[in-house]
Amino acid sequence: MKNDPSIFTFDGQQAGPTVTIMAGVHGNEIGGILAAVRLISLLKTRQLVINSGNLNVIFANIAAIGQNQRQIQLNLNRAFRSNDTYTIEELMTYEAERARRLMPYLSESHALLDLHSSMNPQSTPFIICEPHSYPIAAKLPVGIVSRGWDVIEAGGTDYFVNQNPPGRNFGICIECGFHNDPKAPDRAFEAVMIFLAEFGCIDLHPNYPPTQLQQRRIWANHIHKTATNFHLANEFADFQPIATGTLLGHDGDQEVHAEQDCVIIFPHDCKKPNEEAFILGVEE
Ligand SMILES: [Zn+2]
Repeated sequence: MKNDPSIFTFDGQQAGPTVTIMAGVHGNEIGGILAAVRLISLLKTRQLVINSGNLNVIFANIAAIGQNQRQIQLNLNRAFRSNDTYTIEELMTYEAERARRLMPYLSESHALLDLHSSMNPQSTPFIICEPHSYPIAAKLPVGIVSRGWDVIEAGGTDYFVNQNPPGRNFGICIECGFHNDPKAPDRAFEAVMIFLAEFGCIDLHPNYPPTQLQQRRIWANHIHKTATNFHLANEFADFQPIATGTLLGHDGDQEVHAEQDCVIIFPHDCKKPNEEAFILGVEE
């Protein structure tokens, strides 16, 4: 079950927590993949040593990575959930099988940092985690921290770690900016180094000191799933403030407006029903 060439494990010299770094949950998000390759290279050449605990470095959606596409059949970042929540068609997908393959690694992980990037050139780097992870998130080089995703988007990697059991383990997802931003791999790598030092896996590296940015906190509390399809009324940047009543777009022939003052996250056009068109959140 655990013999998989896309999964690298490194044992520390002393006992400690199991920590997982995941990249390529979405196969075209190259920034995190490059950061994970760099991490493995340093560990294999012993330029970096695991002091304590065990480290998993996982290339999650390996088939999609090979094809430089987001997914093969299903969003892998919604696939970490129990089999009885799947439809028969979903259960037959590559991603459902892949999630079942990776679940044992996440089940044994005390902490997960899952590396992502965005297709939106205006994307702002941010972190997704729940409040018990805020003290860790505050040390990572990103100016926005967002909670609430475990409720509106069950089935993510961070969701799975956070449930096992609630409040004890740390599932953190970092969105490192636009896929093709040359700074995205460096941002991902810096976050990995700080994260590993936080859990005692490696010594704190002088080039990667934990930051203490003043972080915006956003509660993501609404997701728009399409009834028919979705076409945006405007270009919106991630975390752009939206006033009550603003026309966001059209779902089929229905206008979709913001029902409260909020910020918008991951807005994009959709062609089919039951797709995730955008998320709304409020500043805390
Ligand atoms: Zn992603």
